[in-house]
Amino acid sequence: MGYSDTPFLPDGKWRVHDVARPAPAVVNPGPAPAAPAPVPEDAVVLFDGKDLSHWTSGGKEARWKVAEGAMEVNGTGTIETRESFGDLQLHLEWAAPKGIESASQGRGNSGVFFMGRYELQVLDSFENRTYSDGQAAALYGQTPPLVNACRKPGEWQSYDVVFTAPRFENGGLKSPARITVFHNGVLVHHDVAFLGATAHRAVAQYAEHAASGPIALQDHGNPVRYRNVWVRKL
Ligand code: MG
Repeated sequence: MGYSDTPFLPDGKWRVHDVARPAPAVVNPGPAPAAPAPVPEDAVVLFDGKDLSHWTSGGKEARWKVAEGAMEVNGTGTIETRESFGDLQLHLEWAAPKGIESASQGRGNSGVFFMGRYELQVLDSFENRTYSDGQAAALYGQTPPLVNACRKPGEWQSYDVVFTAPRFENGGLKSPARITVFHNGVLVHHDVAFLGATAHRAVAQYAEHAASGPIALQDHGNPVRYRNVWVRKL
């Protein structure tokens, strides 16, 4: 359910994955949409339900299962886009496995890594308590979502994101990565700064990197599905 022996976050109030950090309020976002959301004409479509041509895994072809208009985590590893991105708008839809086989971090765990580094957590947080900075739509290990807008396992959910890449100057951080996130249409992060690249049981830190990077989707061993993934470069 969390940790009590991890380092404190910079706010000095909560530890990383703090077992005592309060759970965000639950907000029912309404029913799942009947169909995938429309795609803007200037979007870069990264997954249209048919193939993984925009994705690689460990430098090779991505090998997640593609069926019924979705791609599904299958233990073959995290996948990342061939193309690199900086500032962007992202839309994606995901669904946790319908069959509940585990709890806490073991239930529908995946994640969206911006620039391959900054994780927006994917987790089945429908009646599934875990540490608050690790639940669905958390900036993993850093910031819980404002509310828990998770739908039931098996139901399609959406993330709509505005991500601003960090800027570096003379080897140091000039401005942090920032993110705004809607989970199933509900605001869960409003222009929040990342503390650094995502870490487990450690305080996130920045290390200089290129101005653009891939979007990665995590294989955490749970058969999470994705569909309708597109970005708009900003
Ligand atoms: Mg994850």
